[in-house]
Parts: sequence; C-alpha cells; structure tokens
Amino acid sequence: MSISGLKDSALSRDKAYVNGQWVAAESGKTFEISNPATGEMLTSVPTMAASDVNEAIAAAKAALPEWRDGSYKKREGALHKWAGLMRSNMEDLARIMTLESGKPLAESRGEVAYALSFLDFFAEETKRVNGAVIPPPTPSQRLLVIKQAIGVCSLLTPWNFPAAMITRKAAPALAAGCTVVIKPAEDTPLTALALAALAEQAGFPPGVINIVTTPRAEVASVGEAMCTHPDVAKVSFTGSTAVGKILLTHAAKGVKKVSMELGGNAPFIVFDDADLDKAADGLMASKFRFGGQTCVCTNRVMVQSGVMEAFTEKVRARVEALKVGDPLVSGTNLGPLINAAAVTKVRGMVKDALSKGAQALVGGDQGEDGEPGSCFVKPVLLGNCDMSMSVCSQEIFGPVVPLMSFETEDEAVRIANDVPGGLAGYFYSQNVGRIFRVAERLEVGMVGVNETVISKETIPFGGVKEAGLGREGSVYGMDDFMELKHICLGI
Ligand code: ADP
Repeated sequence: MSISGLKDSALSRDKAYVNGQWVAAESGKTFEISNPATGEMLTSVPTMAASDVNEAIAAAKAALPEWRDGSYKKREGALHKWAGLMRSNMEDLARIMTLESGKPLAESRGEVAYALSFLDFFAEETKRVNGAVIPPPTPSQRLLVIKQAIGVCSLLTPWNFPAAMITRKAAPALAAGCTVVIKPAEDTPLTALALAALAEQAGFPPGVINIVTTPRAEVASVGEAMCTHPDVAKVSFTGSTAVGKILLTHAAKGVKKVSMELGGNAPFIVFDDADLDKAADGLMASKFRFGGQTCVCTNRVMVQSGVMEAFTEKVRARVEALKVGDPLVSGTNLGPLINAAAVTKVRGMVKDALSKGAQALVGGDQGEDGEPGSCFVKPVLLGNCDMSMSVCSQEIFGPVVPLMSFETEDEAVRIANDVPGGLAGYFYSQNVGRIFRVAERLEVGMVGVNETVISKETIPFGGVKEAGLGREGSVYGMDDFMELKHICLGI
C-alpha cells in the first residue's frame, strides 16, 4: 500500500533501509502507520528486532573507514545534494509528514525547510574541522590537537519533528565522518524513510545512513541494542526525560558518549512593562505550534498581576479564533494530537486543573472534542492556575494554556526555575535591566526575550538540568560527534 497524492511515488516506502538496501524485518513482521486525523491506515513498515539492528550497526561499521577517512569534499557534496533533493521534494515530504503526524501542512513545509537547513549548514562545516597547535613547555616537543569522527552513532528521534530531528543529528554526525543508524519514532517512520530515499539519490555510500523501524512493543529491546552494542560509539536521543534516563543507563554500561534533548516545561513570563499585543502574538506562536506538541512550546504562562486582566482578554480572543480541523487544509491552525494516548493524557491534565480550582475561560468542556477515539482536542484557556496542577508542573504537549499570576520579578524567576528541567524560557519586558537580569537567572538552555521563534540551524539548541545533555545545531553541534586527540611530538 502506498501513500496517495505524491508527485514522486518513490518517496512512499514500506521497507527499512540498511546497507543501501530496502529490507524487511528478519521475522517478516510489520506494523501499521495510521493518519491521526482520520484513523485510516497509511501503510505498514517492518517490525525490526535487536537482531535486525545489529545488522544495521554492522553495515555502519563497515562503511565507516572510507566515509571518515575520505576527502571532506565528498561529505560536503552529499550533504548539499541531500538538502537540494529535500528542497525540490518539499511538497511530497510535507504531505507525508502531515499524513502521519497530523501537523498542519504549512507547518510541515516549514519543518522541511528547517530540516534541510541543517544539511546545508553542516555541509559547510565539513571544511572547518580545525585542530590546534599548543605552545610546548620544552623546545624538544611539538603539541597538536586534532578532531576525529567518533564512529558509529545511534540516533533515536521523536514524532513531533519527523524530519528535523533526524537531520539535526545526522547532518553533524555525517559531516564529522561518522556513520549512523537511525530509529525514527513508531508514529512517524514514513518521513524518515522518504528522507532515506533522497539520501540514496544523493549518493551516500551503502551503510553510511541506515534506518530501522520498530513499533512501541519492540522499542525497549531495540533501544537497548542501539545503546549497548560494542560497535556503537555515540548515542543521540530526542524524546521524553523518562526514556532519556533509560537510555543513559544503557549507554553508561559501555561508557558511550551521549547527547540528550529531553522534555522542557517552558515558562512564558509577561511583566507589567511588556508590550501586551506582542506578548499575546508570541504566546500563540509558541504555545500552538503543532498543537502544543513541541519541547520548546510554552507550557506555563505567568502574568504579573497588574496586567493579568488585559492580557487574558487578548489571549482569549486569539484562542477563540483558532481553527481546528483537517491538517491538509490551508488555514487550519490545529490538527489532531499524535495519538489516542496523547488525547487521554491532555484531557486528564485539564480535568486535574479544573478539580483544583482552575477556571475554564475557553474550552475545557471535553464533550466538545468529537467522537470517542478521535485525536482532536479543542484549545483550552485556563485561568487561576498554580504549580499544584499538572498543567503547570509537567509538560502538557497539547493545546492548553494555563495562566498563573505573580507579583514580583523574584517570584517569577523562582516559579519559572521550580521544575526539574530547563529547555526554553520566554519573557516579555521593555525594561533593559530586567531583560538582562531575568535572561541570566532563568535556568534554561535557550531564552526568548520579546520573541518566541528561537530555533534555527545556526544556534546551539539544548537544555539544562533534566532537559538534557549537549547542544545540537550551530558551530558547536559537531563537537558531540567528534573526539579530540592530542599528539605530542618529540623533535
Ligand atoms: P513521547 O512520549 O513523546 O512519545 P518518548 O520519549 O516516549 O516520547 O518517545 C520518543 C522516542 O523514544 C520514540 O522514538 C520512541 O520510539 C522512543 N522510545 C520510547 N521508549 C523507548 C525505550 N524504552 N528505548 C528506546 N527508545 C524508546
């Protein structure tokens, strides 16, 4: 069964990609991928087990020496070509992404552009893997530092950015000279396989890029194999903090280098000196990107008490204007959530907040959301929230805006930092002293001041505390895929 409506049907793939071949699982088993907007089955892909993953790792190991030790121009050329193919196939890639994830089509197009920007960026970085020459303490020595590709990398990616989380990891790894085994999320393997089809066209040698697919039921053993295999040098994961902790434990057994991009709980703080219209627009962009299902989406909205009423009215009008519906139709702001489990979780959090005294200002009546089993959740604006409610203390991953009130700058910073992880944080203020104070005091890896569109290929993306380890993208992004080697030369 192939995906309908594509210009190039070769982008609809139902096999995994290992050693340059399109392969089934050894067991022959497959699992179904469905469209969360309609419940329809799109296609099935291989249920790969740890033994299949071992084959992919062996292929990546075999491909490593030539890829790593060849000219950087080969890596540069292949990455640029892959980016170009993504650009020319943008409509098909966006359609596949929307069909399997429910992401509104305009956002899917935006993600394809964002995803390919990492390929172009790191293609350029291949020629900047500069080492160092250190002054020797004695005239009889010369001290050098070189950077070398770390080796085979296991990349485990989530469903909320089916293309960009792959390229943000694979591009620096491949640019550095590593080879990769990628496991996309079980909800969204089709975008990953379409990317593999384009990588094949771009001329990456067999084994340099491998993609294995597996359903939730198998993911624990597959994930363990990817993190513990002796031939894997590095594990890079984006997903929940709970799963990140499991993978860290696995990787620790082999003392493997790890990068973790885990859950956030982004505060969005509106001070009484803020431009409230700008803040309300920024909130909408940040909160409702992919229906609230990104790790940098605003989670808790903290408003200084003097502007709470005015700000609430601005947000209420904007939330009421959101269009929920078919993500393929232009003008839709919110599609479905990723799956039924996500709907149950978000509804449970709204119920918890209402039972603890939150006030439903828009939505919140869960009878409105549609048929049982539907993945659609209408947007909810909640007033009178506090940190005892799960909508504030945990990552929501849904279209729910909890409003909390605060009095002072110190109180705002204290509440903002009162969570185990810190990925992104946003605040609105026109006071230049406050801007520096708060930006420096927020315990997060990325701060948006009077701005919520913060991510791009040129900046170091990542979090602090339990939100993760390492940075992706930017001139720092290749460091995680390389080792420094010191060479001490006696002369
Ligand atoms: P979410 O709850 O948003 O789906 P997860 O962290 O559960 O976030 O999933 C993100 C990625 O982690 C997906 O690719 C999923 O398949 C993978 N994953 C989930 N559980 C495990 C596990 N035990 N080992 C390895 N990968 C896992």
